[in-house]
Amino acid sequence: MPAGVNSPVRAFGAVGGDPIYLARGEGALLTDVDGNTYIDYVCSWGPLILGHCHPDVISAVERTARLGTSYGAPHEGEIQLARTIVQAMPWIQMLRCVNSGTEAGMSAIRLARAATGRDKILKFEGNYHGHVDSLLVRAGSGLATFGLPDSAGVPEAMTRDSLVAPYNHLDAVEEIFSQQGESIAAVIVEPVAGNMGVVPPRAGFLEGLRELTKRHGALLIFDEVITGFRVSPSGAAGLYEITPDLVCLGKTIGGGLPVGAYGGRRDLMEQVAPLGPVYQAGTLSGNPLALAAGLATLENLTSEVYQELERKGALLEQGLVEAFTSCGVKAQLNRVGSMLSVFYTDQRVEDNETAFSTDRALYGRLFHGLLQRGVYPPPSALETWFVSAAHDDSQIEQTVTAFKAALEEALKN
Ligand code: PMP
Repeated sequence: MPAGVNSPVRAFGAVGGDPIYLARGEGALLTDVDGNTYIDYVCSWGPLILGHCHPDVISAVERTARLGTSYGAPHEGEIQLARTIVQAMPWIQMLRCVNSGTEAGMSAIRLARAATGRDKILKFEGNYHGHVDSLLVRAGSGLATFGLPDSAGVPEAMTRDSLVAPYNHLDAVEEIFSQQGESIAAVIVEPVAGNMGVVPPRAGFLEGLRELTKRHGALLIFDEVITGFRVSPSGAAGLYEITPDLVCLGKTIGGGLPVGAYGGRRDLMEQVAPLGPVYQAGTLSGNPLALAAGLATLENLTSEVYQELERKGALLEQGLVEAFTSCGVKAQLNRVGSMLSVFYTDQRVEDNETAFSTDRALYGRLFHGLLQRGVYPPPSALETWFVSAAHDDSQIEQTVTAFKAALEEALKN
């Protein structure tokens, strides 16, 4: 396996050192193959909102597995999960299950292009929508530019129709629409950015995107792969009260098994095969095990759980802010509910450029100090920390104590 991993950030390239190899997870805790235990703030990069091995998720998987692991045909579990999603997010009138967030984004933009008869897609700098060729683009700084491929092996032709604007800069989006509005099929956005650390939308940003897309006949796609069922029972669309045309889901709706989904307006979704001409398919799509784990997860997400996630997120925020302030470190903490990131910078972090002003070398040292003290944060300064329902107050206090000690040590080196 390249670098010994199956997904690049896991290799610890951003923080140095060798990855730890994990043996098991339970609640908020992870245990590695050497028997070390860590309080986990990666939570499998978001899906494990209930923590590891929630009993209802495990028994749903066990029960379902006894009935067969895959049928490649319709089954009741799909209807139950779809109903739950549609009830929570009524702007999703129809949906299609896929196997990853990447597939959800890829399929949503294909549909948007077909439905509008336009080719261009506008995305934001520092937003990630999976490793789809046409979305693997980074912007130049400043105003939008034609996207250049971010990865080797992506021909320029694949990203020629990908436009990139800085996140949270509505004026840049307006400028692009004023020049090319007639050829833009859709704007795809993480309504709370989670892939450059946590960057919440500025007041008016999402509203502005809604208004601009509507005015120019383009679609608005919310990539809620992280935020769906995480930041509120109805995701970021519900939290900020914006109605997107299409939504991408993943992570939480699979409860830790591989899953994704895209959905939205009925008139759009009716264009997906076999009802319509937009081809999209999958051997394992709607996999019974994944949907059972997802359904068991969603059924446990009561309003009390969301209140607790908010309270625990706030508790961790307060502790971390006190710790870096008392260490004399200039830092910014961004948080939306149970998603948070600390940026080691004196700038307010509202876009990719300010996110990259974080002191990544300091984070690398801090990361290893935290690992030594039994805390597993994301192995990159520019990723989100996730709190789960399984984290308890004493684990959060332990985390804050470890953070303070690790930060003091990291500052000395
Ligand atoms: N969209 C967002 C917002 C994501 O954070 C991710 C993955 N981190 C994806 C899409 C891609 O999902 P997957 O890794 O399941 O393909």
